[in-house]
Amino acid sequence: VMSITEASPAIKTASTGQIVDVLVPVALDTAYSYKVPAGLELARGDVVVVPLGPRETVGVVWDARSGDGGNLKAVVGRVDTTPMSPALRKLVEWIAWYTVSPRGLALRLALRVPDPSRPETPRVGVRLAGPPPARLTPGRQRVLEVAAGGLVFTKKALAEEAAVSQAVVNGLIDEGTLETVALAQEPVALPPDPAFAQASLSPAQLETADALRETVGEGAFSVTLVEGVTGSGKTEVYFEAIAEALARGKQALILMPEIALTAQFLERFAGRFGVKPAEWHSGVAARRRERIHLGVAAGEVRVVVGARSALFLPFRELGIIVVDEEHETAYKQEDNVQYHARDMAIVRGRIEGFPVVLTSATPSIETKVNAQSGRYRYLALPERFGGRAMPTIRAIDLRRHPAERDHWLSPPLVEAMRDTLEQGEQALLYLNRRGYAPLTLCRACGHRFQCPNCSAWLVEHRYRRALVCHHCGHVERRPDNCPSCGTVDALTACGPGVERLAEEVAEHFPDKRCIVLSSDMPGGTERLREELQAVADGEFSIVIGTQLVAKGHNFPGLTLVGVVDADIGLANGDPRAAERTFQLLQQVTGRAGRFEKPGRALIQTFQPDHPVLQALLSGNAERFYREEIAQREAAGLPPFGRLAGIIVAAADRNEAEAHARALARTAETPPDVHVFGPAEAPLALIRGRYRFRLLVRATRETDLQGYLRDWMARAPRPPQRIRVTIDVDPQSF
Ligand code: ADP
Ligand code: ZN
Repeated sequence: VMSITEASPAIKTASTGQIVDVLVPVALDTAYSYKVPAGLELARGDVVVVPLGPRETVGVVWDARSGDGGNLKAVVGRVDTTPMSPALRKLVEWIAWYTVSPRGLALRLALRVPDPSRPETPRVGVRLAGPPPARLTPGRQRVLEVAAGGLVFTKKALAEEAAVSQAVVNGLIDEGTLETVALAQEPVALPPDPAFAQASLSPAQLETADALRETVGEGAFSVTLVEGVTGSGKTEVYFEAIAEALARGKQALILMPEIALTAQFLERFAGRFGVKPAEWHSGVAARRRERIHLGVAAGEVRVVVGARSALFLPFRELGIIVVDEEHETAYKQEDNVQYHARDMAIVRGRIEGFPVVLTSATPSIETKVNAQSGRYRYLALPERFGGRAMPTIRAIDLRRHPAERDHWLSPPLVEAMRDTLEQGEQALLYLNRRGYAPLTLCRACGHRFQCPNCSAWLVEHRYRRALVCHHCGHVERRPDNCPSCGTVDALTACGPGVERLAEEVAEHFPDKRCIVLSSDMPGGTERLREELQAVADGEFSIVIGTQLVAKGHNFPGLTLVGVVDADIGLANGDPRAAERTFQLLQQVTGRAGRFEKPGRALIQTFQPDHPVLQALLSGNAERFYREEIAQREAAGLPPFGRLAGIIVAAADRNEAEAHARALARTAETPPDVHVFGPAEAPLALIRGRYRFRLLVRATRETDLQGYLRDWMARAPRPPQRIRVTIDVDPQSF
C-alpha cells in the first residue's frame, strides 16, 4: 500500500467536481483532460480507463485539479491496481525528455495493466474419491490408472498423461470417481536470505565488498564502478551489497544484458541466498510476469534479475541497482524510446536516492571517464580470484601462418587445439558469424544473393538449406543452380561462418565431440541453457560459438580460446569499433582457464600491430583507454561532447532523402552545435525502408534535448509514410 496522496488539497473539498489530465501509452506527448464522474475521486498516479477517439484506453492520471469539466469527456473508471508512484512517473518524464520521445511512449515502458480476461485461475489438483464409474471406457481406464498413483496437480496434466481430453476427466469428476482439491497458490518468489551462505572473500574482494556495503548503508544516491578482470569475483562482491540491502529491508534489482542465458547465475544466487531471484524478461510467461509485477509492488518479491525493462518495475523500496557488464550494447533499446538502461538506472537511483553499482571487466569509455573524473566512485579488482592467472594471450599473424585455401584455422591454432584436447581439456573457437558463409556467389556469372528488403547479403545456413537475412529475417531456399545465369552447381560459399568452421574442425578432429552455439540453435533459450550446461559438464571437447558464448559463462574445463578472425570488428568505420572489439575479445579470451588449469588464448589476425591487439597482447588496458579517451576528447565525441542521430526512413528512397534535406535546411547552427549530413545511414536499407541520417554534435554544456525539440517543432511535418526517429547517444557514430 503506497502513499500517493499528493493530489492537491482542493480535491478533498471539491464540490464543483474534478478534472484530471491523463497520459495514455501511445505516441502522444500531451496528457488529455477529462472530467471525473460524481462519486469517483482520483489522485495522481491512478490507473484509469478513458475514451480516446473511437475507443477506450487505459492511462495514468498525470495531474488532477478541481473544476467543472464542462463538456469534457468523462473518465470511464479507475482500474483496481497499484497506482503509479511519484518516482516512477518522474522516471517516465525524465526518459521522455532525455530521449526526445512523446511522454506516452515512455509511459508505455512502465505501465502494465492486469488483464481481466485472464483472471488468476485457482490451482486445482485431482485425485481418486469414489468407486469406478458404471461405464468404463479404455480412456477412463487409463485415467484411473494414472490417478491411482496419487494426487495429480492439474486436470490438464492428468488428461495429458492418460492421453484423453479433459472432458473425460470432467466426466469422472461429475460421477464422483474423482474429486478436485484446491491447492495453495505458490508464492511468486521466496524471500532470499542474506545470511544463507556467506562466501569467504579474498582480501581484495572483502575490501571492495565493504566499500559497497557502505554505499548501501548510506541509503543515498551514488554510482560506483567495480572494474575487475574476468574471473576476479565481481559477482560474489556485489552479492554482499545486495545482502546488505536485504538486511536493511530493501529490495534489489540486478540488470543483465543477456538474461535468457543466465541459468548459471541463478544457481549461484541460490547458493548464496538460498533461493533463486525472480526473473524478468521476455522469455518469462505473461501470467508469471503479471504476478511478479504485483509482487514487486507489494514488496513480496525482494530481488529481481532482469533485462533492461525490469528498470520500470514498481519497486516499493528499492535499495540498490546493480548493472552487470555495464558496457554491453544490449542495454541500449534501439526502437521506439531509445534509452540506455544503464543510464536510466542511474536516473532512477538519483530520483529515489539509492546507490547504483556498475560492473565490468572492460568499462565503456563513458563510464571510465566518469570514474576518472570522480563523478563515480571507483573500485578495482585487478586480479583473478584464488590466485588464478589471467590467460596468456598471443597473436597468430595470418600473413606468416596462413590457413589452407577455404580453411580458416592456421597451423599454430590447430596445433594448440591438438595439445589441449590431448590433455583432456576443452577448446573454444570464437567466430562472430552465424550460419555457414556470410556471402554466396555464382562462380560463373558473379551473381550474389542480396536481401530484397535490406542492403545486406543473404547468409547461407546449410543445416536449414536456406539463405537468411540477419537484419529482417527474410528466408529463401538455397537453389541448386544460379538464378541469374542458370549454371549448375556454380554457387560458392565465400568466407567462414560457424557452421562451416565446424566442418573444418571435423576434418582435423573427427573423433572429438564439437558443438556449434549461436542464436540459430533450434529449441530456443531452454535448449541453449541445456547445451551450455552440457559444455560446462565437459560433454563437448570443442565449442564453436558466436558472441553468445563470449560472455559470462564459466566452463571449468576450458583452457584454450581461439579467436578465428580478430579483424572482423575493426574493419568498419565506426569510431566505437575499437572499443567494441577490445571489449569483446577481452571477454572471450577471459573464458579460458577460469578454474584450476591455466588458460591461453590465440588470436588470428592480419594486423597484430593494431592498438586493440596491442592492448590485449600486452595486457595493458589502461594505455588503450588513455589513447581512446584522448582521441574522443580531441574529436569532441562522447563523453566530451554530445551526439544525436536523426534517422529519416521511407519506402521511397528519394522521398526519404528529400525529407532529410528539408530537415537539414531548417537546422539552426549556433556555435556550439554542428549538424552533419544527411548521408545514407550505416545500413541504408532495412526492412524495405531507406534510411538517411543527420548527425548532431554539440558541446557537453549544450541543452541538446532543448535544441532538438525546438528544431523538430519548426521542421516540416513528415507525411505518415515517412518516419523520423531521434537517437540520443547513438551506439554507432
Ligand atoms: P567475474 O564476475 O569477475 O568474472 P566471478 O564472480 O564469476 O568473476 O568469479 C569467478 C570464479 O571465481 C567463479 O567460479 C566464482 O565461483 C569463483 N569465486 C569468486 N569469488 C569466490 C569466493 N570468495 N569464494 C569462492 N569462489 C569464488
Ligand atoms: Zn533483410
